[in-house]
Amino acid sequence: MAAEVVRAYKTDSPEETQAIAEALAREAVAGDIFALNGDLGVGKTVFAKGFARGLGIEEPITSPTFTILQEYDTGRLPLYHFDIYRIEDSGEMEETGLSEYLDGAGVCLIEWAERIADILPEGINYITIEKDASASPDRRIINVEKVTEAKQT
Ligand code: ADP
Ligand code: MG
Repeated sequence: MAAEVVRAYKTDSPEETQAIAEALAREAVAGDIFALNGDLGVGKTVFAKGFARGLGIEEPITSPTFTILQEYDTGRLPLYHFDIYRIEDSGEMEETGLSEYLDGAGVCLIEWAERIADILPEGINYITIEKDASASPDRRIINVEKVTEAKQT
């Protein structure tokens, strides 16, 4: 399995981060999975808000830290927004019925997806957000990767 960076973005405000997410959401199709990683407070939920807007969801997006999943059905596609910060491991995650959402008709956006990397399918989108404090307190680098199978040689 090889990860290739498809696109890298630099942002200097929450609004810019949301605009990037919004553009990605407009290209999303049913069944897409977006694994969202990055430290606490880096901007994953900010990204999710822009992503929801890109799907045409107008209701407020709240962080599902305590509920694990928030589902939004008023956009172009259903959005399943997970925040699995409180999940210990993939076994615990499977009990939540994750696989039905992964195979569902909507788009999955999973904050802290790295915690359950072993049960996520191949070929999904990985979004990693990092701070670059050397530039400015609001600078973020957003990497958008698609994990592909290693090419046969
Ligand atoms: P996470 O979900 O990753 O824990 P949040 O999205 O809840 O983080 O919070 C990110 C915080 O960082 C917000 O307070 C937001 O205003 C701030 N922020 C500053 N600059 C940026 C940026 N360029 N992109 C996203 N968020 C930013
Ligand atoms: Mg969050």
